[in-house]
Amino acid sequence: LSGPPYRGRFAPSPTGLLHAGSLVAALASWLDARAHRGRWLVRIEDHDQGRCVPGADQAILGQLQTLGLVPDEPPVWQSRREPLYAAALLRLVDGGWAYGCDCTRKSIAEALAAQAQQKARHGELVYPGTCRHRRLSPAQARAWRLLSTADLAGTQDLTLSWQDRRLGAQRQNLTEAVGDFVLRRADGLWAYQLCVVVDDAEQGITDVVRGEDLADNTPRQLRLQQLLGLPSLRYLHTPLVLGANGEKLSKQNGARPLDLDQPLATLQHAAAALGLPDLPGATMADWLAAAVRAWASQGLRRPSLMA
Ligand code: GLU
Repeated sequence: LSGPPYRGRFAPSPTGLLHAGSLVAALASWLDARAHRGRWLVRIEDHDQGRCVPGADQAILGQLQTLGLVPDEPPVWQSRREPLYAAALLRLVDGGWAYGCDCTRKSIAEALAAQAQQKARHGELVYPGTCRHRRLSPAQARAWRLLSTADLAGTQDLTLSWQDRRLGAQRQNLTEAVGDFVLRRADGLWAYQLCVVVDDAEQGITDVVRGEDLADNTPRQLRLQQLLGLPSLRYLHTPLVLGANGEKLSKQNGARPLDLDQPLATLQHAAAALGLPDLPGATMADWLAAAVRAWASQGLRRPSLMA
């Protein structure tokens, strides 16, 4: 890999403790950073304070430390970085790419019903663009959205592609699949898409390694990077860990907290989900070193990570 020195990150939302699924993403991002002799950062994604559990941030940092995954720089908290997000929104508004919106859920549903052809694909509501050209002032706007088209007039669809290190060539028609997405919500909260792009750039991140459930967010983030003139990143989306019900393991479907009494076994379990072979190592430090070597020699070429 060429370009600036490798900087990776793990970006947990402190909505609860890490579980077996989130550890897979944490371990993969740590291994990838170490295998590239890069730096590994942790960012606490607490932009949505309503979903955060008090104390979960420190508890997550403690879990990572017990597992030997220690960030190379002090962690940052999104809730303390509002001015960065506000500055980015302002630039997008100035460029004509972001606009104020005063629609409510009800008015959007009504507009969609009236324009049946604009019905959501993929089961999601695609905003019908009601406020696109209304030029609402900040005082009138409830939320702020990004134009999802290739042109400011809003007539040309925009398709984004990227080469995922595990999933291969990916593409999405942003206009059709997502539509004009929210950057700042009506309740004043900053949207994940904007925070993550601003923070990755501000922290000099070069490589994003995270769970596959986030893969379809990537085109929104690529678009924001383009419009804000930020460097593009490399992406690797890791396999999801499924629960007993066959669904993605999550806090919502009852994932148990990690067993920190046996950190080595817990790490080995996560490594198996990443396709790493059984590795020697009497201590956690020995095992982690062996895992970095294994990742460097085969994780990057990813034969065992192939879908
Ligand atoms: N905070 C997000 C999550 O926990 C991850 C964001 C990212 O890695 O881009 O799902």
